Amino acid sequence: MNLNVLISREDIDKKIKELAKQISRDYKNKDIFAITVLEGAKIFSEELRKELKALNASVENTFVKLSSYANSTESAGKIKIVRGLEKGVKGKEVLVIEDIIDTGLTLHFFKDYLFKQGAKSVRICVLTDKPARRKINVKLDYVGFTIPDKFIVGFGIDCKEQHRELPYIAYVE
Ligand code: 5GP
Repeated sequence: MNLNVLISREDIDKKIKELAKQISRDYKNKDIFAITVLEGAKIFSEELRKELKALNASVENTFVKLSSYANSTESAGKIKIVRGLEKGVKGKEVLVIEDIIDTGLTLHFFKDYLFKQGAKSVRICVLTDKPARRKINVKLDYVGFTIPDKFIVGFGIDCKEQHRELPYIAYVE
C-alpha cells in the first residue's frame, strides 16, 4: 500500500487554529457541547478542543461511535449507533466533530437523531469533506479541507486499524 501525503501536519495545525477561532466566535457566551465521532475524529477533536480552551471557550465533550465503513472502503449505507451518548443533549448547543464526510449518510442520520433527542442547536465540524460522492445534502458549519475522491488515512483516520498514528493525512494508492 502506497501512502502519499495529501495534507501536511503544518497545514492541519494551521487549519485547526482557524477553525477554533471561528467556532469560539460563533459560540460566544454559549457552552459548547461537543460530540466527537469515534474513532477517526479523536485526534482532531483533542487538538481542536485544546485550541478552543486556549481561546477561553466553554467546552464539554462526549463521544459517540457510529457504524460506517466496517472493513470495506465502500460506505455500507446503513447507520447504527454502536456506542451511544453518555449524557443527554436536551437543550444543548451541540457541535459534532467528525473526521470525514463522504456520502453524508452518517452525519445526516446523526444530526436528525440529535434534534429528535432535543438538542437546541446542532452544528457540524469536519476535518475533511469529500463532496464527490455525496448522496444526501448536509449543512456543514465548519470544514477543514475539501479533498478529492481518494481514500485517506492518518491523523487519527485508519484503514483497518492501521495508519492512525501518521501525523499527516495521506491518500492510499
Ligand atoms: P459517510 O456516511 O459520509 O459516507 O461516511 C463517513 C464515514 O466514512 C467517515 O466517518 C469515515 O469513517 C468513513 N470514510 C469515508 N471516506 C473515508 C476515507 O477516505 N478514509 C477512511 N479511512 N474512512 C473514510
